[in-house]
Amino acid sequence: MTETTSRITPSTAFQELPLGAVKPAGWLRRQLALQADGLTGHLEDLWPDVGPNSAWLGGHGEDWERGPYYLDGLVPLAHVLDDAVLKAKAQRWIEAILASQRPDGFFGPASNNDWWPRMCALKALTQHHDATGDARVLPFMTQYFRHQLGQLPGRPLNDWGEARGQENVLTVLWLHRKTNEAFLLELADLIAGQTLDWVDYLQHRLIETPATTFDHHTHVVNVAMSLKGPALDYLLRGDAGQEGVFRDSLANLDRLHGMINGMFSGDEWLAGTEPQHGVELCAVVELMFSLETQVRVFGDAQDADRLELVAFNALASTISADMRSHQYHQQVNQVLCTVAQRDWTMSSDDANTFGLEPHFGCCTANLHQGWPKLTRSAWMASPGGLAVISYVPCDVEASVGGQKVRLKTETDYPFEETVRISVQLEDRANFALNLRIPGWCQGASLTINGEAVACPPNSRGFARIERLWQDGDQIELTLPMTVRALPRPNGALGLALGPLVLALSPGELWTELPTGEGFGDWEIRHRRSWNYALDLSDTAPETACRVQRFPVPDFPFSLGASRPDAGVEGVALRVHTPAKRLPDWLLEQNSAAPPPPGPVRSLQPTHQVQLVPYGCTRLRIAEFPVQRTEIEVPKDSVE
Ligand SMILES: [Zn+2]
Repeated sequence: MTETTSRITPSTAFQELPLGAVKPAGWLRRQLALQADGLTGHLEDLWPDVGPNSAWLGGHGEDWERGPYYLDGLVPLAHVLDDAVLKAKAQRWIEAILASQRPDGFFGPASNNDWWPRMCALKALTQHHDATGDARVLPFMTQYFRHQLGQLPGRPLNDWGEARGQENVLTVLWLHRKTNEAFLLELADLIAGQTLDWVDYLQHRLIETPATTFDHHTHVVNVAMSLKGPALDYLLRGDAGQEGVFRDSLANLDRLHGMINGMFSGDEWLAGTEPQHGVELCAVVELMFSLETQVRVFGDAQDADRLELVAFNALASTISADMRSHQYHQQVNQVLCTVAQRDWTMSSDDANTFGLEPHFGCCTANLHQGWPKLTRSAWMASPGGLAVISYVPCDVEASVGGQKVRLKTETDYPFEETVRISVQLEDRANFALNLRIPGWCQGASLTINGEAVACPPNSRGFARIERLWQDGDQIELTLPMTVRALPRPNGALGLALGPLVLALSPGELWTELPTGEGFGDWEIRHRRSWNYALDLSDTAPETACRVQRFPVPDFPFSLGASRPDAGVEGVALRVHTPAKRLPDWLLEQNSAAPPPPGPVRSLQPTHQVQLVPYGCTRLRIAEFPVQRTEIEVPKDSVE
């Protein structure tokens, strides 16, 4: 008997609900339906790498990460939408993977024995089991993990697998929760020991400038994945200090590479804080999944705030509003999406165009997990009740203390401030609702059946409302959003309203490239000037800006239509802000130059410009220079 047999792993703060327990409603359902009708639902027909000849389906085609990446998003999309066609698509992959297992436990394409793509396939299998309870999954994974335990000492993780071993640990711990087999903790230790030392890198050796040579440590997708490592290490060893390790690592990344959209840069290597640098779509969905893991394990609302910031801004904007084309890299200040040389650390000239496979196909395969996993994670089980992680519109059905509870969340949040939750119960039931009070919110207010109820957040950022609930109870939570400043390096400034970063849209002129691929490959050019400085005249942004709200359009993260050629007439939210043209702020290497160090001085007249949610734009300025309001007499002019 090894020492690991008696180890007791700590429990998580929150627990995932079964996949399918949270169903999207309102704008989120429309967004996911667009995804189903767009790239996810059609990718097998459009793109041979996940087509019928995939080696993961028994053919002779792509045999590495692309099939499993795709499945890792297809499975949750199929189940949150409860879509029979998508479920059937996913089932084909599941059957092929289960059928590929050898007597020694190894599985997948015989032509490729890399550990890494199997880590992704296992993530898809755990979700398939969570949704269906398929009895074949636990023995399949047990057999594979026994194989890994025997083989890893002689054939250790290498290359991408060595950089991303925490993805393997995640599914080993998932199985341990189901079976409690002691060898799994031994395996998790072994895998963690073969994984790159991310704690040392992110805490002590993080690169301070844009990377210039390849290193797994500076690859932005690896970094985004690695951030779930501390939470998993806590589950493995019970060291509560791992929460601080995560927080310090993210703070270091923010300081040296942080972006206004909740990401750190990486195009595709860590690239500093300037807003013309890009971030790869794979890193966006992987940081979201790491944050979902982080909030589940440690239960701190600030990680859910960050999750929403990334989802509603970075994710929403880097895929077209109709979910039919995507970028490889997005830029915070993005004024031309064209085939042209840019200041990327490593990528080809088409990396910020919208299409089927700009630059490289990893994002084409991996983008699918973003919205479905956010949907699943929007509500979680908490001790004695439920917790709201994100206030997206949805219907939740869960078992709390043995009683079935249904909760209907009706809202246009994040485009509105009020969230209405109705409770459906067969009998009265006592349970706790943990309502997240976002860190950006001052003066949240709550009513239950019209009566005011105090909702102070606890030290973890949640207001815990425990009471005897009755069928028909109505909860109304208002989260006031005021325009606030987001200071950036060199005196630049961004603005945000609640979880939405605000951006100036210079209009979008979409031109199709003659590639004939997918649903089309597109360049986008601006129709109006983009070079404005904010002119807030020393007043707080909440005073200088005026907010207007409109119905959320059919394409929720659009300027009003799927591919707008002009205007912002249909967008869900506009913020009127004083600004001045800054004629000397020009293009540099086909991108908006870094904002001139501020405060700047423009003699142009002040205009009211309309800012819109970052997530609704494909071209934008979101990091602005700031106009100097007082015209000082230069000292050397007085003699
Ligand atoms: Zn990618």
